[in-house]
Amino acid sequence: MLKDQDRIFTNLYGMHERTLKGAQARGHWDGTSGLIEKGRDWIIQTMKDSGLRGRGGAGFPTGLKWSFMPKESDGRPSYLVINADESEPGTCKDREIMRHDPHTLIEGALIASFAMNAHTCYIYLRGEYIREREALQAAIDECYDKGLLGRNAAGSGWDFDVFLHHGAGAYICGEETALIESLEGKKGMPRMKPPFPAGAGLYGCPTTVNNVESIAVVPTILRRGADWFAGFGRPNNAGTKLFAISGHVNNPCVVEEAMSISFEELIEKHCGGIRGGWDNLLAVIPGGSSVPCVRGENMRDAIMDFDYLRGELGSGLGTAAVIVMDKQTDIIKAIWRLAKFYKHESCGQCTPCREGTGWMMRVMDRLVKGEADLEEIDMLWDVTKQVEGHTICALGDAAAWPIQGLIRNFRDEIEDRIKAQKTGRKSAIAAE
Ligand code: SF4
Repeated sequence: MLKDQDRIFTNLYGMHERTLKGAQARGHWDGTSGLIEKGRDWIIQTMKDSGLRGRGGAGFPTGLKWSFMPKESDGRPSYLVINADESEPGTCKDREIMRHDPHTLIEGALIASFAMNAHTCYIYLRGEYIREREALQAAIDECYDKGLLGRNAAGSGWDFDVFLHHGAGAYICGEETALIESLEGKKGMPRMKPPFPAGAGLYGCPTTVNNVESIAVVPTILRRGADWFAGFGRPNNAGTKLFAISGHVNNPCVVEEAMSISFEELIEKHCGGIRGGWDNLLAVIPGGSSVPCVRGENMRDAIMDFDYLRGELGSGLGTAAVIVMDKQTDIIKAIWRLAKFYKHESCGQCTPCREGTGWMMRVMDRLVKGEADLEEIDMLWDVTKQVEGHTICALGDAAAWPIQGLIRNFRDEIEDRIKAQKTGRKSAIAAE
């Protein structure tokens, strides 16, 4: 289990002061200008050496992403945009940073922006995060008052401003280019890539979009060293990570743990075990609603990191939002609910996604009730394959994968329900 002295987020539960004074007492804003004095190359190299992979779901190496930004300006400004949209169902980790430990994020924003030659950072919050915005704005105001933001921020010689911006509640605005469009005041619709944001992002200028947690861990990594951070987790899966565990555990929670912790340890140490015991575990969605579910018996020994969940179990770590479902769950209906969500959130600009999410949801409607033919299971699988990888943004994949996970892992249950419907047997009919 991660030791208390190795936690980056020491006020995750709001038990201590979230003010600047409280944050400083916990070691934040300590020697920030000294870190900046070491220069851009040192910061980016340290981030690369730390092995940090983006915490927003895709797991792209953060230091490498930063290095794509132009070293010299061609006259255009550069921007850091922090993605605080956090709309992936099951995910609720960034909100704990924003409302209880906001200074980790603001200090990180200053250092990261300096490393990328940006004088301005926008934090894009999901529309529902009202209290989180208030907490962040209060922290930002304190920083301006104390000279940590604005001209010569924190005595670093770097002028730096942070602005907050609320979204209006669309899931797709968590996709980085849709987020940029929305920030520009347009409809939140993903852009074709290339050009990538590092070449032409916000207002056509070089932009990096990073997740809240990815930025909030930066100051501590730089202070404690790349080796310290890289010492947690298996190679290529370094660091500590916020896990958000919800569903049928005895104590759902958000907790910081070392990467590559086993699923069993995570659940037993922090969540008080599975509701009804391990034999009652049906399935787990280990990384937010868009990754495929895994059967309970395959999860118990699972290693919670990017490579294991993807390579060994055909799923993913995603945002590390772990959704646990016990045997009381109607798994077909649970996945149908996700299909309905993705259909609703499709922005509609590409045909496979706009039409495919609707088709998939309508077939799922019938599978839930068992009012389908057995061949439709394969037809549904084919539709998911026609959507996956054929769309502008990852929402198409996000809509296809949960259904693929269902068919791969619970085909017998789907078939049983269809047969039950045909014979009038009651036991396998959907929950109301
Ligand atoms: Fe819009 Fe879906 Fe295409 Fe993404 S995949 S751009 S959400 S239609």
